Amino acid sequence: MNKKVAFYTLGCKLNFSETSTIARNFDDEGFSRVDFSEKADIYVINTCSVTENADKRFKTIVKQAQKSNPNAFVAAVGCYAQLKPQELADVNGVDLVLGATEKFKITDYLNDLSKNDFGEVHSCEIEDADFYVGSYSIGDRTRAFLKVQDGCDYKCTYCTIPLARGISRSDTMEGVLKNARDISKQNIKEIVLTGVNIGDYGKGEFGNKKHEHTFLDLVTELDKVEGIERLRISSIEPNLLKNDTIDLVSKSRAFVPHFHIPLQSGSNEILKKMKRRYMRELYVDRVSKIKEVMPHACIGVDVIVGFPGETDEHFLETYNFLTELDISYLHVFTYSERDNTEAAEMDGIVPGNVRSKRSKMLRGLSVKKRRAFYESQLESARTVLFESENKSGYIHGFTENYVKVKTPWNPELVNTLHAVNLTKIDDDGLVRFDFVKQDSVA
Ligand code: SF4
Repeated sequence: MNKKVAFYTLGCKLNFSETSTIARNFDDEGFSRVDFSEKADIYVINTCSVTENADKRFKTIVKQAQKSNPNAFVAAVGCYAQLKPQELADVNGVDLVLGATEKFKITDYLNDLSKNDFGEVHSCEIEDADFYVGSYSIGDRTRAFLKVQDGCDYKCTYCTIPLARGISRSDTMEGVLKNARDISKQNIKEIVLTGVNIGDYGKGEFGNKKHEHTFLDLVTELDKVEGIERLRISSIEPNLLKNDTIDLVSKSRAFVPHFHIPLQSGSNEILKKMKRRYMRELYVDRVSKIKEVMPHACIGVDVIVGFPGETDEHFLETYNFLTELDISYLHVFTYSERDNTEAAEMDGIVPGNVRSKRSKMLRGLSVKKRRAFYESQLESARTVLFESENKSGYIHGFTENYVKVKTPWNPELVNTLHAVNLTKIDDDGLVRFDFVKQDSVA
């Protein structure tokens, strides 16, 4: 009988896309996939280093696996496995820990599935992770996460991602287009581009820094792939989001008017300490440009509170900056110290309670921003892609500009696009709508 394997993914869309690729490798080797809650012979955990309490979370998941099958072989891969291999290997029940260069070769390590007394580590120097492995995952049967780039050459002082994922490198244009076509054949309506720093798309492998194609080339070519109804850029650094890309999206067939742009701080002083590659003035300029050509665009913002040296004045600068800015929602991150980063050595540590208070204030601001954005969209005609879950009798969906809508559950709507008029905002903050014509967009 085929050996059974189960997967658990922590962290970002990129990790999800890579778990899918690793899972397909297992399929090719004749393993059968089961849900993580079921009894399996092998449990693979794709870890994240950004998650708060990453170690605790990891231990809980290992315990869960062992409860399902105490004799199962447990393997850890991913960012945390690269950064702290021994820490993971020491967790009771873990048999194998693979670093960044080894994770896609995991099936080569599984000839002997007998439990080890302690976890075996196959780590690597992150400098060796200079090759590219393409990936995509199908999220909820309606959208796919397509990896186009990996690693990062920036040196933001709070970030461990370059240490966990290595230098910036990207898929070839042919590779991305092939994956996009494969996805479209599976009746997926929306692709979300993922990577660590996707605006840096174009750098080659093995330290070959020659730019073969730019991010603009990438979006131009992807826009032509037939069968994909929607493309979403997801997150892009403000300094890499150029006017020509914004103009292209505004006229595009499939790219939707939704941008997620990390800001991190509205104080130039803090931005400098973070070694971000822009000042707040550039951010204002990017938002203005987007809104000039796409007034209905949704703009999401990442922001960090409690960075070392962030005084009340700096925080208020950020708060006021965001209040004034024409953006639609925030993702708020509370700064936490990471080993081997410059920021962890900086003075001016912000006490935990102050960090929490600032985070709460910005989360409150985010609710207001989202509400104001949704209100600005009422009475407008949009297109909704419906998702696949029945949530307490309702089906949810997103417009092209990321307004979340709901309507009573109807399985026929799953994974279909419909033209709608947005009508009102419910108490739960989701938007109601009228169908323009039931099958106007299918
Ligand atoms: S751009 Fe900065 S924050 Fe983002 S992955 Fe690179 S180093 Fe980290």
